[in-house]
Amino acid sequence: MRLSSRQFYVLRCRGTEPPFSGKYLRNKEKGVYHCAGCDAPLFSSEAKFNSGTGWPSFTEPIDKTSIEEEIDTSFGMIRTEVHCINLLP
Ligand SMILES: [Zn+2]
Repeated sequence: MRLSSRQFYVLRCRGTEPPFSGKYLRNKEKGVYHCAGCDAPLFSSEAKFNSGTGWPSFTEPIDKTSIEEEIDTSFGMIRTEVHCINLLP
């Protein structure tokens, strides 16, 4: 699988896509969201909700062991970064 330049930036360089720019933000289709890097199933459409943040948001992952959370205190804010457990360092 080859990543697009934006996917590479987000998945391998710990980047963040601009808010309200993702193609799945307003997606209402039922299904499972897979990691673009390793294809692991991460989130169900059942857990998707409109957070108003500009990024797709989920109440919980399909399996807590398939994601990792890290506290990000940059920019004077306290945020929780959630990413696939298979993210390369
Ligand atoms: Zn992954």
